[in-house]
Amino acid sequence: MYELANRLREVADEVDNDYDVDPYNTEQRCLAILEAANAIEELSRKETPMKITEIHVDEYFCPACGAENNCDQGHVQDAYCPACGQRLLPQQPKEG
Ligand SMILES: [Zn+2]
Repeated sequence: MYELANRLREVADEVDNDYDVDPYNTEQRCLAILEAANAIEELSRKETPMKITEIHVDEYFCPACGAENNCDQGHVQDAYCPACGQRLLPQQPKEG
C-alpha cells in the first residue's frame, strides 16, 4: 500500500506538470489523473498487437477500426494500422 501511495503521488506530480492543473484543486487534479490513466490505457491497447482476420489480395481490414488498408498479394507489410495506429500482429507465412 505504501508503495502504491507513493506511486500515485508521483503520478499526481507529473500530471500537475503535464496538464497544467492547479495543485490545490483536488477535483481538477483527479480529472487530470483520470485523463492521463485513460491515455495510458488507450496507448497500451494500441500497442497490443491485434490479429488481422480479414485479408484480401489488395486490401485488408484493420481489426481495431475497420479501415480498409492496402496490402500486396495478400501480404500485409504494415506493423501499425495507417488509419488508427493499432499495432498489428505480423502475419504467419502461409504453408504451401
Ligand atoms: Zn485501424
